[in-house]
Amino acid sequence: MENINVTVWNEYRHEKSEEHIRAIYPDGIHNAIKSYLDTVPGLTVRTATLDEPENGLPQEVVDSTDVMLWWGHMAHGEVKDEVVDRVWRRVQQGMGLIVLHSGHASKIFQRITGTRSYDLKWREDGDKERLWVIDHSHPIVQGIGDYIELEHEEVYGETFEIPTPDELIFISWFEGGEVFRSGLTYKRGSGKIFYFRPGHESVPTYHNEKVLKVIENAIFWAAPTVYPKYGTGYVRPLEKVGGKEIK
Ligand code: ZN
Repeated sequence: MENINVTVWNEYRHEKSEEHIRAIYPDGIHNAIKSYLDTVPGLTVRTATLDEPENGLPQEVVDSTDVMLWWGHMAHGEVKDEVVDRVWRRVQQGMGLIVLHSGHASKIFQRITGTRSYDLKWREDGDKERLWVIDHSHPIVQGIGDYIELEHEEVYGETFEIPTPDELIFISWFEGGEVFRSGLTYKRGSGKIFYFRPGHESVPTYHNEKVLKVIENAIFWAAPTVYPKYGTGYVRPLEKVGGKEIK
């Protein structure tokens, strides 16, 4: 079997401009995730960032990606619309997409949800987060146990303005009392999408082994088994219609 081609896309701004965040992710969130994924057999992993030409996602990169990861926060508006179109088209064709944390407000996730998915409650007070697995049979949670506990995380609280997901995999509880749909899936066209909530830039969430395991599992789940070929547009009938051959 061929390797799954993974592109880890990161906005990569906080890590460059804020020292306390650089201390957690010296080479950026994308490279923290990549260095874990590089140890997983069956994956070929590269990174792409906002400030590279074409936001790091020229056509040939998108066209050779089987699963894309997306982390953005402060510069969603700087992602070019044609890049969003390109990623969207590739999802329709079968590419998997894993949207991380504040990527909920990205142009691509809004395109997928069709709602104000940027809107939710939030707070940054160092709450503990516990992500409860609610679908133990799902491939994304294998090896996780009952829950993931993160000592400090940013709070996201319901209501999260998203369409009802196809599958709900995690619900988070926060120390301050909020709950949140933290792991959920959609299918759009031939592509599978997983949204995974944790991953605020000022806490070391992408060094947590269970969080990384979920991302690994999600890549294998979202990877296309096939890029289907099918026709669209005008088509002649297969049979005679009303007794007449249609030419
Ligand atoms: Zn955040």
